[in-house]
Amino acid sequence: MRLRNITGCREMIGESEFVVHEPETMKGKWREAFGNDHPVYVEIGMGKGRFLMDMARLYPEINFIGIEKYSSVLLRAVQKLEEEELPNVRLIRMDAEDLENVFAQGELDRIYLNFSDPWPKDRHAKRRLESRQFLARYDQILKKDGTIEFKTDNRALFDFALEEVEAAGWTLNEKTFDLHADARLNEGNVMTEYEERFSAQGNPICKYIISR
Ligand code: SAM
Repeated sequence: MRLRNITGCREMIGESEFVVHEPETMKGKWREAFGNDHPVYVEIGMGKGRFLMDMARLYPEINFIGIEKYSSVLLRAVQKLEEEELPNVRLIRMDAEDLENVFAQGELDRIYLNFSDPWPKDRHAKRRLESRQFLARYDQILKKDGTIEFKTDNRALFDFALEEVEAAGWTLNEKTFDLHADARLNEGNVMTEYEERFSAQGNPICKYIISR
């Protein structure tokens, strides 16, 4: 998802106190940034930030960081946050390939991957956020019993993600091919923008939860 360039986008993002502009300087100090000792959950590829903000409202005792590659998309989340100030949210514009420069070993308690870009060509497999290359990055920054939660309506991407979990030696704690029909796993589910759109079209939503 990439929105067209919006004039003044970088300036608006630059002025927001919710955006961390030099995230590398916070490596190992994210709890200080929030001024508390609460767990830190990150959503990678958060888009316009609806899931992140809904979660932050529901769980004020958790610190949430949203990561998004494109300024034009991040801007939507910034605008919403300027209207409704949530003290437990911070945003970073960055490519997830650089995660290890921004988070210290074991600094994160949970990572959310919601409706990640599928990168359908085989030669682009390592760009998928669920690839073994990304799992190796998550391995560095997640704490020992930390978890990753992944949702998608793309069955091919989900099947790939399951293969990668096994290949990388992670533990599959939960798996469903139809989240909304699974009363137990769907309990407390917070829908993302893409989830709402695709489930309204009748697409089942796949989800896994993994840990080391
Ligand atoms: N998570 C949201 C949802 O479920 O509604 C948005 C899903 S959208 C399909 C995927 C988002 O991930 C896009 O906004 C895209 O720019 C972002 N993204 C893709 N690859 C990324 C990367 N390597 N680092 C950071 N963001 C990325």
